[in-house]
Amino acid sequence: PDDPDSPTGDADSPSLDRDQLAKAAARDTRTAGQRNHDALKTGLRHLLGSGVLGSHRGLPVTAIVTFGLDQLESETGVATTASGGIVPIRDALAMFEGAHPVLVLFDHHGRPLHLGRSKRLASADQRLALIAASRGCTRPGCDAPATMTAVHHLKEWNDGGATDIESLDLACDPCHALVHDGPGGWQTRTAPRDSENAGRTEWTPPAHIDPDRQPRVNHRHHLDELLARALERAQARKVSDLRHRRDAAP
Ligand SMILES: [Zn+2]
Repeated sequence: PDDPDSPTGDADSPSLDRDQLAKAAARDTRTAGQRNHDALKTGLRHLLGSGVLGSHRGLPVTAIVTFGLDQLESETGVATTASGGIVPIRDALAMFEGAHPVLVLFDHHGRPLHLGRSKRLASADQRLALIAASRGCTRPGCDAPATMTAVHHLKEWNDGGATDIESLDLACDPCHALVHDGPGGWQTRTAPRDSENAGRTEWTPPAHIDPDRQPRVNHRHHLDELLARALERAQARKVSDLRHRRDAAP
């Protein structure tokens, strides 16, 4: 594939230059394993680009990759996929070669992220926005990736809840079934503005799981945030240790 002089197309076609093909084959030093890998990759690429794969939970079957603007600019770090994988940014950018680049800025203007009571089911745009923000099921401790989740109304549709982006988040089917007003049910809400996890979806466990009924968010899909907070704490400890030693010095 890295040989620009290698002929492409049907190897049995009479219009193909046999001489050119034989020379290209003689130059090809790839191992049998590498050639099989490259052939499989070419086949899968054609299939993914064909547009015949239908849809999954309202989105076309395609790779959904999420990363930050700073990662895009520096071309470092990792991107997350909707199925729970991680991909180095360089590989993610390479995947976009030959794809239609679509840049979507979710600014609550122009894109239909607010459907109010006009529709019960979330739109494909809303689902993409939620995949970018939540990355997977939002119940604390659940590791179900975004592809295994449905869009959950924080205020149930039957109770007058709206299909607006602030009132929706991702939950896998088993977790979704745990949310109800009956005994032993979990409750969900958006974390208040002044709280540590402002804007994220908090889940309140029933009293038999947590007698204090402390609301919690899911950190499983946001390990980068946990790492950043741990580094911040370690840095603060180091600074306070240094101050302590300086003050204690004679
Ligand atoms: Zn879940």
